[in-house]
Amino acid sequence: MNYDNNNIFAKILRGEIPCDKIYEDDFVLSFYDISPQKKIHALVIPKGKYVDLDDFTVNASSEEMVGLLKGINKVAKKLGISVDTGKGYRALANISEHGGQEVPHLHFHLFGGEKLGKMI
Ligand code: AMP
Repeated sequence: MNYDNNNIFAKILRGEIPCDKIYEDDFVLSFYDISPQKKIHALVIPKGKYVDLDDFTVNASSEEMVGLLKGINKVAKKLGISVDTGKGYRALANISEHGGQEVPHLHFHLFGGEKLGKMI
């Protein structure tokens, strides 16, 4: 699938649509999900144009990959849910049709702030 420049997260990255920002650096933008499924529900997206995790894995630079993983860790720390707090969280990426992905720009959901129970 080709990257759609008009997807909602592309518009957020360009500043055309507002978001409730949590964190930003050269590699990632993080903001609260507009429709939270858990007490804490954040999204972390790479700044590069990647449709999904497969696209990212094949086409992103090593620097971008490290930037995304470190970004997730920084956001978890900022939200007070990282492992060193004794809490923890769930990071989840939906991938393509069977994965239930709705927005075609790679994003990790970070769920936390409460016990999450079984995954499915
Ligand atoms: P997915 O099904 O993995 O593609 O998840 C897309 C997520 O994006 C959903 O959880 C939506 O609630 C969320 N979402 C859609 N539009 C916005 C927006 N403008 N700001 C924040 N989150 C959004």
